[in-house]
Amino acid sequence: MPRKSPEQIARARRLLRALKRRYPDARCELEWREPHELLVATILSAQSTDVGVNRATPALFKAFPTPADYASAGPARIEPLVRTLNFWRNKARSVHESMQAVCDRFGGQVPRTMDELLTLRGVARKTANVVLGNAFGLQEGVVVDTHVGRLARRMGLTRHDDPAKVERDLMALFPRRDWCLLSHLLIFHGRRACKARGGSCAHDAICRSFCSQAGISSRAPAGAPPRRARARPRPSRRSG
Ligand code: SF4
Repeated sequence: MPRKSPEQIARARRLLRALKRRYPDARCELEWREPHELLVATILSAQSTDVGVNRATPALFKAFPTPADYASAGPARIEPLVRTLNFWRNKARSVHESMQAVCDRFGGQVPRTMDELLTLRGVARKTANVVLGNAFGLQEGVVVDTHVGRLARRMGLTRHDDPAKVERDLMALFPRRDWCLLSHLLIFHGRRACKARGGSCAHDAICRSFCSQAGISSRAPAGAPPRRARARPRPSRRSG
């Protein structure tokens, strides 16, 4: 874990308190009821919006109520229900194979460890963190999607682009009990204030207190600071 100074940690805690006050209802915006539904929805959310996933999943969850239903169906029967999403063919295959593995190797239950989750097709560390944190309340890491990465850099919480390194910086700065909530808070601020193509720089109290970009003239496209950030994927899409 990277070493952080007491000042960096104190600043991060102040930011956390401010975000909690601003977004008391911050939560995972994917809709699900059972852990396997969250796993499926998160696999589907790669490079797609939560809104788009939430439009597709009611019919999908109805057609395949259990992991065994996906496993026995095969990708061809899943595909028509996820066709509105990017990379639907590959995602249908990931959903099928991951649910097959859940049935074959984990007794039909979504596994509760990072190592086990990472063995499933379509599951990388970000997806595993979403499932562990939201379905099981296990704080194994911080979900780093495009919003979290962008906010973390703009607010001086990391200098890295690599999501794995961003995650380690955030884990070093924030209390473990808040790792899951932290990503929701940053995503909420990213969607409402600090959008990749323009934010509320200089007009937002949290931005003014915590972001070096807040002093930039409002004539500049808000949130525009980093040239490199403009070339990043659009904020409304997940990074995989
Ligand atoms: S000041 Fe601008 S760049 Fe910084 S967090 Fe706020 S909206 Fe984003």
